[in-house]
Amino acid sequence: MPKDDVRAKKFLGQHFLKDERIAERIAQSLSGEVANVLEIGPGMGVLTKYLVQNEKLNFWAIEIDTESVEYLHNHYPSLNVIEGDFLKLDVSTLFKDQPFAVIGNFPYNISSQILFKVYDNRNAVPEVVGMFQKEVAERVAAKPGSKTYGILSVLLSAFYNTEYLFTVDEHVFNPPPKVKSAVIRLRRNEVSALDCDEKLFTTVVKTGFNQRRKTMRNALKPIGKSLANIPEDLLMKRAEQLSVADFVMITKLLEE
Ligand code: SAH
Repeated sequence: MPKDDVRAKKFLGQHFLKDERIAERIAQSLSGEVANVLEIGPGMGVLTKYLVQNEKLNFWAIEIDTESVEYLHNHYPSLNVIEGDFLKLDVSTLFKDQPFAVIGNFPYNISSQILFKVYDNRNAVPEVVGMFQKEVAERVAAKPGSKTYGILSVLLSAFYNTEYLFTVDEHVFNPPPKVKSAVIRLRRNEVSALDCDEKLFTTVVKTGFNQRRKTMRNALKPIGKSLANIPEDLLMKRAEQLSVADFVMITKLLEE
């Protein structure tokens, strides 16, 4: 491979899983309740193998790397694979507005962006199963008051039940990443809509954590709305101490 190609691939977050049992375990972590499944970044297909053989699934994969796409075409001729960037994919076209699950040993360089895209499409994505760097997995599953609790913890747990399934050692990848990994599962909860303006809720959560050491009274100033209706005990706290319900309450009282 020419040097430039090697360098370019570094930016694709390519760490191929070597351990078949872990791949199988990830595939088996899908609940099976969602027939449409999209794999992000199948690479050389280690996980794909366990998904294409399940005839109950309407299975698609999206892979950005041309060389990997060629490999997949050759080894899994019946696989539906899109060559492209998941972050640019219009998900409504793929499964014709039907709900779909997302699975993958994800490219870690875009972990947060993948999760924000899931959040933005929460009513189309009932389930997510897959591997992230351990720190991101912990953040997603974190509860209020913990050090890792952050924007994605609040936003995702507002609409999903989040589970940290298991930790994965760096040596089962080629090349090994610098950090440990972990597999998580998100399943859409029963909340169809929050009891507040959801766009403003997203802004309040992001703004609150933007300056995570400040109390909400100070952190929320950039929003430029009156805080007069918000109870003092909420304003005195920092974002990392607040539950989803607290953020919903703050959002509601900001609006009025
Ligand atoms: N699932 C494979 C590969 C994991 S590495 C395995 O477990 O071995 C991450 C994969 O995501 C790589 O194949 C990389 O080319 C692909 N990728 C990186 N960015 C992407 C993007 N924006 N959209 C789709 N695929 C992407």
